[in-house]
Amino acid sequence: MSGSAGELLAVACALKEHRLNVGASGNASVRYDGGFMVTPSGLPPERCTVADMVWMKMDGSCIEGEGRAPSSEWRIHRDIYASVPEAEAVIHTHSPFATALACQRRDIPPFHYMVALFGGDNVRCAPYATFGTEELSKNVQAALAGRNACLLANHGMLVYGRDLTHALAQAIELETLCEQYWRACQPVPPVLLSGEEMAEVMERFRHYGEREFRQL
Ligand code: 13P
Ligand code: ZN
Repeated sequence: MSGSAGELLAVACALKEHRLNVGASGNASVRYDGGFMVTPSGLPPERCTVADMVWMKMDGSCIEGEGRAPSSEWRIHRDIYASVPEAEAVIHTHSPFATALACQRRDIPPFHYMVALFGGDNVRCAPYATFGTEELSKNVQAALAGRNACLLANHGMLVYGRDLTHALAQAIELETLCEQYWRACQPVPPVLLSGEEMAEVMERFRHYGEREFRQL
């Protein structure tokens, strides 16, 4: 067993306080009793209680969680725990500078030595796939080879760590590094999503999260 639902909720709230996530953007998890505990889908952390955290088995089934659906990105979290024994906690954010770079689909090169904090001489950007899909998880797995962090094209970033505290620290470090790289570069316009890709996201939003959110 690693973390607890209380620690997971505290870290989800800390991600908001550090301005790494807003609203229901992003998610977090911690390895727990043969499976993992993950934040619920579509619920901002400030509206969650400990009982809203969802305990999942490695086969993707839910053990408890007051009927809450697990994060739509549960596959990414599960696949990291399955393939990286030392990963004890996973954090995904839509933090501003990491996301800005990810919209340009750029790897972070070795412009600063702190890039090495994430396992090598770059932090890769995983190719774009619709949020919540197996394809996105596969892209993330490939981008993480030999690394403990990656960007997600036109989406955000992801880190894992040896516990929740470490993963939170890594997320703060990566966002800081992305800000430094952004400021060190001349502006380059982002790669924009196609109409078809945006239509697919809009279709998913119709079935995503809470009712009032869907109706917006
Ligand atoms: P969830 O609320 O389902 O975790 O989705 C947020 C997100 O960031 C999807 O990529
Ligand atoms: Zn996301």
